[in-house]
Amino acid sequence: METRFDAAVIGGGVVGCAIARELTKYKLKTGLFEKECDVAVGTSGRNSGVSHAGFYVPAGTFKAKLNIVGHELMPSLCKELGVPYIAVGKIVTAKEEDEREYLYKLKETGEKNGCKKLRIIDQKEIKRLEPNINGIEALHSPTTAILDPFLLTISLAENALRNGACIHLNTEVKRIEQSSDGFTLETNNGKYAAGILINSAGLYADKIAAMAGITGYEIHPCRGEYHLLDKNKRNLINGAVYPVPPKELGGLGIHLTPTTDGNIMLGPSAEYIPEPDDTANTSEVMDKLFKESYEFLPKITRKDIIKSFSGIRPKLITPGSKSPADFIIEESRKIPGFINLIGIESPGLTGAPAIAKKVAEMISKIRGGLVENPSFDPTEKPKIRFAELSNREKSELIKKDPDYGIVVCRCQSVTKKEVIDALNNPLCARSIYSVSKRCRATLGRCQGGFCLPKIIENLEEQHHPQTSDINYAGKGSELFTGKKEGIE
Ligand SMILES: Cc1cc2nc3c(=O)[nH]c(=O)nc-3n(C[C@H](O)[C@H](O)[C@H](O)COP(=O)(O)OP(=O)(O)OC[C@H]3O[C@@H](n4cnc5c(N)ncnc54)[C@H](O)[C@@H]3O)c2cc1C
Repeated sequence: METRFDAAVIGGGVVGCAIARELTKYKLKTGLFEKECDVAVGTSGRNSGVSHAGFYVPAGTFKAKLNIVGHELMPSLCKELGVPYIAVGKIVTAKEEDEREYLYKLKETGEKNGCKKLRIIDQKEIKRLEPNINGIEALHSPTTAILDPFLLTISLAENALRNGACIHLNTEVKRIEQSSDGFTLETNNGKYAAGILINSAGLYADKIAAMAGITGYEIHPCRGEYHLLDKNKRNLINGAVYPVPPKELGGLGIHLTPTTDGNIMLGPSAEYIPEPDDTANTSEVMDKLFKESYEFLPKITRKDIIKSFSGIRPKLITPGSKSPADFIIEESRKIPGFINLIGIESPGLTGAPAIAKKVAEMISKIRGGLVENPSFDPTEKPKIRFAELSNREKSELIKKDPDYGIVVCRCQSVTKKEVIDALNNPLCARSIYSVSKRCRATLGRCQGGFCLPKIIENLEEQHHPQTSDINYAGKGSELFTGKKEGIE
């Protein structure tokens, strides 16, 4: 007989993982299905990592409400889960006279939404906050924060798992059938039953809805490309620096955002594309990105770029559309017990904790109440960052475990013990991607040139995989065809 869940979530992005974790606060047998080799492989691992204060979203929308509540919940959530969160603040800068008006409109929208501490600042104060940035006036939001979107998603999933949820990675939902008491999910790893189904499949949410016979949703993928700067440039800005965005494309314009790991991201662009999986970088956009960022920050050079990547927005509007779309979070009228989350683009990362609470409320209504889980533990131990410790703390750790004394990733000073802990993660995610997102190895200047073979050695030591199974990020990204004869 197939495993039965009271509630099953499709999608292991930040929203799906936040929902799964929220549901473990109650006595509900919860399952989560993710088609990729790990959580945060989709849009949730490909964004600016900003907890938005809430002045970009139109007043009175669902998006605005969830943005504001999510931003309020985020600091304590990150603290509970040991996830880096830094309120670096943000300035939105006007460079031309005719851009000033936009700042005042943003402030007005923000205040209507309930944003705190917004201020219009002059040239002198811009220079005080951001000595390398030029502008004639700016909107300053001191509560805007940066967080680690990978670790947030991973820790939500790990915490959900520890509190009783079943997390199924590498498990793609391929068919959905209604049954007398809910749904049957057909996956590549067998069949599962669920009383309530939550469609949190991001760029594929329209397709999941269609599997259940719910038509009418259409997601339009819109790619945003980024450059990542080397850590030695981190001190060029203090907080996030945004422009007055160009009107044509929508979005927030090419901005400069520090990461909690000490890099700066330049981007993202905005370009509608036909395929939801096409996370390529194009030379044309990469060139444009650098030029636009250089206008903002003339102290950067192309040599400072250590990596380029892209993320894809699940937009509900088509190119050129003037009216913004709201998040769709609703129980299907046609199929009771089927909850759809569609078009969860920015600020979906910020809104995730609030969205999760909203979905729990909906489930409570469907089931006529929820019973609290008395053994729910909201906390996760922060992952040790050896490089950030004092010399005394470092030598104490090395005494406890000599693997802390072996540096595997030179660029990021990540030790063998941190790599081993990442390899032995509770979700049993075993790809190179999974290691790098947990302990930051391979993400420095050399992008794994030095440490990749060592990580593979550690993976072989710990889990003895077939050489031909070792992959970067799941099936299709295998790194080897096999072992060469005579080489051990
Ligand atoms: C360029 C860019 C910048 C952004 N910047 C910010 C920001 O700074 N702040 C902010 O608040 N928001 C930002 N966002 C928005 C934010 O990243 C998203 O709203 C959020 O990550 C959405 O999370 P999700 O869980 O809904 O989707 P996803 O992360 O896409 O997760 C959906 C998951 O469903 C899985 N899935 C799909 N189909 C199936 C199936 N059949 N079976 C099993 N699993 C399936 C996918 O593999 C995927 O992992 C940005 C987005 C982009 C693209």
